[in-house]
This record gives sequence, C-alpha cells and structure tokens, in this order.
Amino acid sequence: MPKSILKIALDVPLDRLFDYLRGDASVQVGQRVLVPFGRRSQIGIVMGFADTSEFAIEKLKPIAQAFVDELPIDAEALNLIKFSADYYQYPFGQALLSALPARLRQVAPAVSRKQYAYQLTVLGRQGDIAQLPKNQSVRRRVFAALQSADLMTETQLDEISSSARKAAKQLVADGWAVAQQVQAVGRVAEIAPAIVPTLNDEQQLVVNCIIQASHQFKAWLLHGITGSGKTEVYMRLMQHILQSKEAQVLVLVPEINLTPQLEARFRSRFAHLLLVSLHSNLSESERLHHWQLAQSGAAQIIIGTRLSIFTPLPHLKLIIIDEEHDSSYKQQDSMRYHARDVALVRAQRLKIPVVLGSATPALESWHNAASQKYGLLHLKQRAVTAAQLPQIDCIDTTKVNLQNGLTPQLIGALKQRLARKEQSLLFINRRGYSPVLLCAACHWIAPCSRCSARLVVHLGQRKLRCHHCGHEQRIPQQCPSCGDADLHPTGHGTQRLEQTLAQLLPNARIARVDRDSISRKNALVEILDRVHNQEIDILIGTQMLAKGHDFPNLTLVGVIDTDSALHSPDFRAGERLFAQLMQVAGRAGRADKAGQVLIQTAFPDNPLFNALRIQDYESYANTLLQEREQVQFPPFVFTALVRAEANEYALVQQFLQFAFARARSLSDVVMVYEPVRPQMERLKGMERGYILLHAPQRLMLQKLLNPLVQTLRVHKLASKVRWAVDVDPLEF
Ligand code: ADP
Ligand code: ZN
Ligand code: ZN
Repeated sequence: MPKSILKIALDVPLDRLFDYLRGDASVQVGQRVLVPFGRRSQIGIVMGFADTSEFAIEKLKPIAQAFVDELPIDAEALNLIKFSADYYQYPFGQALLSALPARLRQVAPAVSRKQYAYQLTVLGRQGDIAQLPKNQSVRRRVFAALQSADLMTETQLDEISSSARKAAKQLVADGWAVAQQVQAVGRVAEIAPAIVPTLNDEQQLVVNCIIQASHQFKAWLLHGITGSGKTEVYMRLMQHILQSKEAQVLVLVPEINLTPQLEARFRSRFAHLLLVSLHSNLSESERLHHWQLAQSGAAQIIIGTRLSIFTPLPHLKLIIIDEEHDSSYKQQDSMRYHARDVALVRAQRLKIPVVLGSATPALESWHNAASQKYGLLHLKQRAVTAAQLPQIDCIDTTKVNLQNGLTPQLIGALKQRLARKEQSLLFINRRGYSPVLLCAACHWIAPCSRCSARLVVHLGQRKLRCHHCGHEQRIPQQCPSCGDADLHPTGHGTQRLEQTLAQLLPNARIARVDRDSISRKNALVEILDRVHNQEIDILIGTQMLAKGHDFPNLTLVGVIDTDSALHSPDFRAGERLFAQLMQVAGRAGRADKAGQVLIQTAFPDNPLFNALRIQDYESYANTLLQEREQVQFPPFVFTALVRAEANEYALVQQFLQFAFARARSLSDVVMVYEPVRPQMERLKGMERGYILLHAPQRLMLQKLLNPLVQTLRVHKLASKVRWAVDVDPLEF
C-alpha cells in the first residue's frame, strides 16, 4: 500500500514542505498537483511520501487534483533547485515553482498555439514500418503518413488521431523524425545547409582537448578574442556530443537579444536536430511547449538565458556558457542565483563537461583557471585570417575643444569613414551618460523624488524620467529652487548626440539604439538589418550593441565617455569597463577591412587603456587579481550581503543591527561589517542598507548564513522590512 501522506512544495515564502492526503491518486515525486491552501488553491509539486505527519491526520486535507498525465519533474532537476535554494538562502518551494514556465503554475496549462511540423530524418526514411511495435498503431500510422506527406503540421497530425502528436514525438525521440516550429523556420528542408569551415590549428586543439575528456566532469575556460571562432568550437563540440542517440546540449546566452543570431547559426548547422529556445521573450505557450520538449528529451539543443539552467534535461551531456563573464547571468531579485555557478554544480553532479567561453573572462573564472580548477584553453587569433585586430587609440579630452562632447579627431575620423562609404559605431557607456536638467543660475539638478538619482531628460517626449523607478514628470518651466527660467539639459545622451551628429554630418544616415528607440518589438532587428544592408552610416548605441553583432563594413568605433566608470567606487568597475571596451573594439574590422577604435578620455594613461591598446586581457586580469588579493576582495574571499529596505531608514538600521550582532555571535572566522548604505541609498521610495559578510571559504559563509536566515525570518521587524540575502553579490 503506497504511503498516504504527500510532502508538497508550494510557492509560499516558508522554507518547508506541506503535508496533504494522497487520496487514491497514483502520483510520483515531481508530479504537479493542485491543493487547497488557505482560502484558495495552489499548484504544488510532490516531493515525497510519508506515513505520518507532525500534524494530526484529521487536520490534513486531500489534494484536489493530480496532473498524472504530465511528465513529472525529474530528480536531477529537483535536486539542483534544492541545492540552489539552500546555497542562495531562498525558500525551496518558491525557487522550484518560479523555475517552471508560468503556465505550469496555473491549473490547466493551455495547449500551445505555436505549430510544430514533423518530418522524417535520414534514419527515418531508411526505417521500415515493421520495425515499429505492432501494438503501437498510432505511431505506425503517423510514420506511414510522414513517409508519403514529407512534412506534417500538428493540425494535420490531429486528423490521424488525438494521440498522433505524442506518437510523432516518440518518433523524434527515436531519431526517426524531427520537429521544427513552422512560423519560425518554415520547412525544415528549406534551410540552406551551412558551409562547415575547416578548423584552424588552435580550434582543433581546443576541440580535441575537450572531446577527449567529454565523459567526465571538467570545467573548461575557453579564452578567445572576439572573432577567434569560439562559436565554431561550440558547434563542433555539440556535433560530437549529439552523435549519441540520447544527448542534449544546453547553451546559455546572457541576453535575449543575442539568442536569435546564435539560434539561426545553430539551426542552419543542425537542421536535422530539434532546437528550442527558452527566454522571456517567448509567449507563455511557446515557453511551455519549448520547456516540455526539453523536459521530454525530444529537444537536443536548448539555447536559453539564465533561468533555463533549471530546465529538466534527461539527456544533458554538455553545457556551454557563452560570454561567461556577463553579469546578466546573476539574478538580481528573488533567488539571487548565478547561472554560471549553478551550471558548474550541475555539470559536476552529472559528470559532464562545461565550457565557459569569453574574450574577457570574469576574474573569478580566470582565478579558477590560474589555480587549475578549470582547464584553460586559448584562441589567440581571429579565425578569418584576413581579419586584422583593430588599432586602439585614446584621445586626450583635456587637450582639445569638444564640440557637444565630440573631439575634432573623432569627428574627422567619422568624416573619413563617410567618404570611404564605411560604417561607424559610436558607443556610449550607459551609466553616468544620460542628460540631466540643470539650472544655470543655482546649479539645481532635477532629482527623482523616490530614488537617490537624477531624472533623465527625454526631449522627444518633453519629459523627465527616472531610469531606476520609471517615475515621469513634465519638464518644469522654472527652477523649483531659485525660480530662474534658464533650465537646460546637460550631459550627452544618445538623443543629443544624434542631433549633434546630424548637424555636423548632414549627409550621414544615423541610427540610434537605446531603450527608447527599440522599445517596440523587432525594432532592434530592423535597425540591425538596415545596418547590414548598408542603409546606415553611423550607429549610436549603448551596451546592447557591444555584443554579438557582426558588421563587416564597420571600421570605426568611437567610445565617447568612460571616465565615470574609471572612478566608480564599485571594485568591479574596472573589470567591467575593460570587458565592455574589448567587446566594442571587437566590432571594428571583423572582415577584411582593418578597424580603428578611438576612445575619448581625460585619463589616457590609465593602465586599463594600456592593456586595451595591446588587447592584453591576461596581464590586465593578473594585475587586477594581485590588487584584489592584497585587499582581500573576491575571488580571494567569498562574500554575502544581507540587504534590507523600508520606508524609514531607522527600521532598516534596527533590523540590520540585529542581523549584524547575530552574525557576529555565530562565527569567529567570518568577517561581519557594520550596516552601511549602498551607493543608491534610496530606490523606488525605499531607504536601503546592507551588512557585508566575508570569509575565506564558501562553506564558512554557508554555515553562518543558514542559522542567521532562520532567526531573521522570525524577527519582529521581518514583516516591516523587505530583506534578502545575496550570496556572491555582484552589486553593492
Ligand atoms: P567568436 O564566437 O569567437 O566571436 P565566431 O565563431 O563567430 O567567433 O567566428 C568568427 C567568424 O569566423 C565567423 O564568421 C565564422 O564563421 C568564422 N570562422 C570561425 N572559424 C573558422 C574557420 N576555422 N575557418 C574559417 N572561418 C571561420
Ligand atoms: Zn535654480
Ligand atoms: Zn526614481
């Protein structure tokens, strides 16, 4: 007789499971169920079975419904989420439910609207109906239909039988058929087969190294400059791994914007395999469908942003993390996990390789490679031999007259490119670059009433807007401080830069890429298409443009303002700026034309620029590591924050003082610092503070955090103060 009590994880902020009566449902661990909770019902996940409960049996309620026709979430994925919830000090039930597609948190996941079409593979075409089990008549009928129809959509399959889709998926699992999204790619056969280049020696070496150790856990740091052929290496590894019948590869990418290009490249190379993407730009039903294809093992390639690291993948054999240094792998609210770190744990548990690729690895990863925890592999040359490394120079802004923020040298270089019909990119560092409203008489600057931040001028909409909380107001006629009417925007901003350039270079075709100009869906894709079609001469943009895009005719990159980042109090600012500039520099001269990068700065002698000029990541990284070791910063110590915010700082202070005292009492090896306020003291009307903990080993921190969090959860202020633990924080 199976046990009668179910242990169920629910999306509630309590770190425990809930007991329910099983009734006569035959559920498994990982199964979705609906249970009564308080006055409502909730979706939960079965985590275990018991004969007894700490509550009286009569008090337990039976589950309302069990979704037994769905595949349960497998133990490997459940364990990974459990590990992460513990490590990042977050309630397990919430971590688990938020890792699922939204549709699975609702009672009945609606059927996906996106159409999939099925087609036989080479193996399938060689197959014989006699090889299929006699008792699986639907599968046989679907197979026969595919033999004559060549391609069948799900709607066509539905005409055969209500279980025809399932049968088609089984054929996919057997390797006899493939499924593709119809809208996305049209007919499978119409994808132009990709030309597969011969690997150069460096690439071949890298591929060989990883392949010969591909049946065990091994973390590889692939350090390769932009254009050195890292993506080609990923594809060869995937090809090797996916030769096995039951294999899946997970490719993590930092941003949604980057998935379409990589997806297109993978699709044309692996036209015969089922590839799905997982990111927040998908509709709810697409996301569910893709997730289910991944969970069933049918999808062989899964390309996704950070959350996809928690997707159940029964045949996972390789994880690739592109741009591994990117900070968007770290979630900044609810469970503050780092997808790269979770991926390492997952790979270790599964005994599979994980490849971290970057031109500018995170110092944490570089340190791990230097201390031989990771294998280190290099790609030092650009893969297309003709492609030259760009020439990088600084322009000293203290020695020339600027025209609306532009130096004569940069303007001259832009004119030259126009004359040669080549393209230019002006790169703006988003932080500290937006135009603010300044009173010329008293120097008042329009502040946000809810954040410690300045409002940004949006001339187009004649509005002031806060980029942190979204607060908007009209541009005032007079200075609220002194009454003077001489208010004007100061600072550059992409919009003003665009206006300035339009005046200076009236013939240039200019496009701007920033949050405003691409807020419409597909706007970015359209602009990038115009750049590719040579309909744009000068592209102005922020971080968004630094990555991934490949423009063969782009030969000049101008970098307008980096100095605020050079003097940031954030100890990671230098590392980030270097990575960003290396990446934008990589945009120049990708094809056969030599590129030039011009950086405007008041500090041309900063060591960062020296390293950048010779594109020497390694020596710069080693210098930064030495500095961090001297001052005992990460990666030489492990840190965690207890963050808190409330309407009044006094409450925050009181709560953090308690946390501070408690943390001190719990350990003598972990350093605990007094409460302080972050750079952004107020955000969205909330007063903020934190305490910092640091320790020479992860485990010491974990040992302290666990009991600390237990006491904080029941503290009398815990309901008045919004608080969170941030393990391995990236931002302070
Ligand atoms: P990365 O990912 O390091 O930026 P890519 O893999 O995108 O580099 O390669 C840059 C360019 O070089 C691409 O256009 C790619 O098709 C090409 N490429 C990569 N490897 C080779 C090779 N072995 N032979 C010829 N071209 C290559
Ligand atoms: Zn004033
Ligand atoms: Zn604000």
